[in-house]
Formats: sequence, structure tokens, C-alpha cells
Amino acid sequence: MLPEDTIVAIATPPGRGGIGVVRLSGDRAIEIASGLVHLSKLPLETQHATLGQFRDPRSGRVLDEVVLTAFRRPRSYTGEDVVEISCHGAPLILAYLVECCLERGARVAEPGEFTMRAFLNGRIDLTQAEAVRDLIESRTIYQARVAAEQMDGAVSTRLKPHKQALVDLIARLEAGIDFAEDDVPVSGWDEIGCGLDAISNDLEPLAAGYEYGRLVHEGVSLAIVGRPNVGKSSLFNRLLNEERAIVTATPGTTRDLVAESAAIGGIPLRLVDTAGVRETADEAEQIGVRKTLQAIAGSDLRLLVLDASEDWTAEDSALLDRVRPLGSLLVALNKSDLPRKLALPQLGDRPSGASIVWTSALTGEGVAELKTALLDLAAPARDAYSGALITSLRHQQLLRDCLRALTRARDAAREHVHHEMVLLDLYDALHALDTITGATTVEDLLGVIFSSFCVGK
Ligand code: GDP
Repeated sequence: MLPEDTIVAIATPPGRGGIGVVRLSGDRAIEIASGLVHLSKLPLETQHATLGQFRDPRSGRVLDEVVLTAFRRPRSYTGEDVVEISCHGAPLILAYLVECCLERGARVAEPGEFTMRAFLNGRIDLTQAEAVRDLIESRTIYQARVAAEQMDGAVSTRLKPHKQALVDLIARLEAGIDFAEDDVPVSGWDEIGCGLDAISNDLEPLAAGYEYGRLVHEGVSLAIVGRPNVGKSSLFNRLLNEERAIVTATPGTTRDLVAESAAIGGIPLRLVDTAGVRETADEAEQIGVRKTLQAIAGSDLRLLVLDASEDWTAEDSALLDRVRPLGSLLVALNKSDLPRKLALPQLGDRPSGASIVWTSALTGEGVAELKTALLDLAAPARDAYSGALITSLRHQQLLRDCLRALTRARDAAREHVHHEMVLLDLYDALHALDTITGATTVEDLLGVIFSSFCVGK
């Protein structure tokens, strides 16, 4: 059922550049490419780069000097024959090369089709395919590292023993149903219960890790609140400066409010500018204020900046009252380089989960602590996760489906209901895990049933 046609696409981003790559995959990839590129050395050596000339099939004239790399199946990205032709990054040449490939029988690749073929051909599973996309879209090195681990199969590796354990349990119960008359021993309910507990106990933290994984994947938004001149913009810049080099700007969703993107501890951070919160009679301005307040409430975290070199003001109180009920709050006592006037008791009861940090945006003192406090607030359990981290909602929901099915099976097993009922739940649990990796275990299951329960029929 595998697609047999040969697909072609420009693999590099649109526009001019040093090089541009045209990629082909399929049975005829090598034949098509060889017809267009005159190689400096024959015969074509696969898994090697060879210099060549892209010649216009109509005139025979040289259009570009290229490097052709052919990968023979199954040792290729897609598992099919793959050819990558690195041209100079001239959009016209790349487009013409693709056109020539089409004339020779290739078809334009659909978005993601190379990776889809890698999946269909069993080169990678679904979690790995999704990780390819995440890697390409990563905005911090940390995000890239997590994606690379997933691309390497971290999630699948973590799930594999549990799938096997489920398959074994299912096989035993199935054997109990199908071959009861042969006296195949069906494991006791207690043993089944223990097996199910072991799976749940390991999958539960993996699913719970999504809370952090989501942050890594999507980033957090931080609203900086404070009255004018306390040093919001200066702290803003401090937070931005250090990691700006490796962060690419992404347009904000609420364009007029979101100012910039930064990163703390590898987690993308969207800074929400909240300069506009003030009492006003002007109607247009009120709309702006309302929007800003919504943005503050909608942010994942809030940073209230106070000027520690000044006395506490009514405006500070009003702002604190506004942000205190909204959840995760951090307070920066800024201008700590100046003589201190602000007394801490004025902050009143600490809002739950709030931390207080002394900072000086001028000298940079306390900025590192501020970042750590932000991270602690955003991702308290971040150190607990190494290796497999769930960053996809799809994976998390399926893990939850699996865990629910396991609980049902556990309850059923405890009540010693008919094992067919337990089986249904186990199949549900297995199906959920399979859907994460995109695998089908019917054959695995048959293999286990017929190897470990050889009943000689
Ligand atoms: P915003 O209105 O809250 O955004 O405040 P700004 O960041 O624009 O800062 C207001 C003024 O305070 C500027 O003159 C800053 O240079 C100064 N400022 C900001 N942070 C500090 C600090 O930590 N120490 C001192 N001494 N001055 C600061």
C-alpha cells in the first residue's frame, strides 16, 4: 500500500541563498536525477556526494554546478531511494529543476510527505515524525534538544516496555478465553493487578510531565506590571538581552500588547507590555486598559515591579490587589542599588506562590535570581524530567486515555469480573499507546499469543 510514485520538492526555504536543495524520493528518484545532472564521476556512488552539472534537457547547456547525493533504500530519510541535489540558491534554477523532474515523471510532494513516507516505510514512528516538525519550529536550543531526543525515539523507547507488558497480559487473557479447554494457565487476578499497577505507575509521571513539556513547547507569557518609572522597561530589557541572540522573534497574538520574546532556561518567554494600566475617563483609553487587564489575567505569570527606593504608594496597592488574585505572581523590588525606602511588610500577606526578589535593572544585580524565580514559578518540576518529555497535547491525551483504561481494567480485575471485560479495557489501553507511536500491534499480539502459548493446534 506504499505510494510508489516519486515525489520532488525544494527542501530549502523560499528565497535566494548560498545553496538550495531539491529533494526526490521514490523508485525513480535516482533515474530522474541522473537524467538531469551530468556527474563528474560515474558510476554513481550512493551515500556519497558527487559533483555534477545540471544541464538544461532542452539545450544541453549547463545551468548550474551542483552536488548530488543519492541514498539507496532503505538507508535514506524516507526509506526509499532519495536524491538531494544541492544547487546554488537561485529560486529560478530550483524551480526549473523541479519542473524538469516533473516532466520526467515525478510528482510535487505534499507538505510533510517526505516525513510521512519515512513513517509509512517504518523508518520512524509518529512521535519521531512529530519531533521533526518540532525541531524545525524550535525557538530555543533547549526546545531543539528536547525535540532531538524525541526524534531519536525517547518517547517510543519509554512506551515500548509497557506496550510489551500489555501485549503479554492480553495474550494471557486471550489464551484463557480461546484455549480454556487446553488448560493454559491464566495468571491470577493479583498478578494481573500488579502488572497493571506497574504500567500505571510509570506512565503517570510521564503524562504529568506534560505540564512542563507544554511550557517547553509553547513557552510562557509574562506580564510585567508596575506604576510608571519603577523600572519595568529596564528589567524587560535585562530579561531580553541575555538570551536574545538565540531567540527568534515571533509575532504576538495580541499584537499591540505583546512586545518581545525572550527565553529563560530554554523556555520561550513572551513579555506582555502592560504600560497602559491606569485610571482614565477617556473611552478609547478605557478599551485599551481593559485589553491590557485581560492580557495580564491571561498571562501565565505576572511580575509586579516596585520601586524599592521610594515609599509605597496607593497605586502600588491597587496594582497588587489586581494581580494578587490572578495566580502565579513574582514581585521585583527594583532599584536595589539606591537607598531602600520600601518596607516589606507593606506587601501584606504573601500571595500564594509569589516570590520576592531584589533587583537592580541598572547594575544587573538580582536579574539572575529573578530569572530563576520565574523558572521556579513557571516550571517548578523542571529538574525532574530528563529523557522522555511529553510536549504534545496529542500524546498527553492518549496517555490519559491509556491510564483511564488501565484504571478500569484494574477495578475490573479487583472485582474478578469476567476476564473478557478486563480484556476490553486492556485493548483500549494498548490502542491508546499504539496511537501515540502510530503502530499496529495486531501482528505483535499474534506473535506473542502463538509463540509463548504454543498450544500445538
Ligand atoms: P518604567 O516606566 O517602569 O518602564 O521604568 P523605566 O525602565 O523606564 O525606568 C525609569 C527610570 O528608572 C529610568 O531612568 C531608569 O534608568 C531608572 N531605573 C530603572 N531601573 C533602575 C534601577 O534598578 N536602579 C536605578 N538606580 N535606576 C533604575
